[in-house]
Amino acid sequence: MAMPLHQSVRLGTHLLKQKLLRRKKFPLLVELEPLFACNLKCAGCGKIAHPASVLKQRMPVGQAVRAVVDSGAPMVSIAGGEPLMHKEIDEIVRQLLDRKKIVFLCTNAVLLPGHLHRFTPHRNFAWMVHIDGLRERHDASVCKQGVFDQAVASIKQAQAAGFRVMTNTTFFDTDTPQDVIDVLDYLNNELGVDNMQISPGYAYERAPDQQHWLSVNQTRQLFAKAFADGRRKKWRLNHSPLFLDFLEGKIDFGCTAWAIPSYSIKGWQRPCYLLDDGYVDTYQQLIDETDWDAFGRGRDPRCANCMAHCGYEPTAVFATVKSLRETIRAAVGS
Ligand code: SF4
Ligand code: SF4
Repeated sequence: MAMPLHQSVRLGTHLLKQKLLRRKKFPLLVELEPLFACNLKCAGCGKIAHPASVLKQRMPVGQAVRAVVDSGAPMVSIAGGEPLMHKEIDEIVRQLLDRKKIVFLCTNAVLLPGHLHRFTPHRNFAWMVHIDGLRERHDASVCKQGVFDQAVASIKQAQAAGFRVMTNTTFFDTDTPQDVIDVLDYLNNELGVDNMQISPGYAYERAPDQQHWLSVNQTRQLFAKAFADGRRKKWRLNHSPLFLDFLEGKIDFGCTAWAIPSYSIKGWQRPCYLLDDGYVDTYQQLIDETDWDAFGRGRDPRCANCMAHCGYEPTAVFATVKSLRETIRAAVGS
């Protein structure tokens, strides 16, 4: 995984510890959603469709930190909604860093300039800015003009202040391989962000736009063409080499959604943050009371076109550590 070396070591230590403890199911990263409200209304978003009574809720700091710590995950990705709309988000980040967690704070970056002063650069903290394409494409994706320019200005401001900045880009069936190349070249070479994450759009049942999800074959074709001619190696992608192989159809994996679980104001979400089969109070309950064999492509029709990071990156990580060759390949990326 193209993450900083000290973070790769941290992840490797976590994996070794779980092996020694003979734990079969454990989290690598928690998707923490301390609110669902957002300042934007993206057409592909399944979170802002919650009723107003849910959108106005905010998770208390103690509850957020306790859930992550109790799960034992070394990494946490804070999303939502827009986390910067949570009045105590800086305190959640601070307390997670104090407990040695690696923290990614996801944001559309519109509110970032007004909130940057609440945070301090830290080697285990990174902003994860949502950028779905170049100017026209991104503004269309978030259904508002001018957001791309705001996000780019925010990224530059955060970089100048000494923060690690990453990006997260979701692709839909309207994207061509050249669109993928153009946005990754821009983020990697011109904007110089630390790492980029990519994802094929998942077919949220609640999202307003139900027409532009990618099928498995479309995803494979899109990434195989975009990654061709050695381009993949030139980008600082925040994924294991095997997950990128998976995206471009060189290898196939099963889903291990229990390794990137989601904890929101409703509780631990079964089975992953994309589906909504109920909530439980603890990570252990999630593990014990979920029929994990019922999920994944070929098992649940809602999973049919899913190639999402939360289900398949962990499988790629587990396959990586089982193979010396793949471990070396991933380490070279770090
Ligand atoms: S910025 Fe993120 S949370 Fe907000 S509407 Fe868009 S996809 Fe949803
Ligand atoms: S395949 Fe896995 S990650 Fe994807 S929707 Fe199904 S359970 Fe969730």
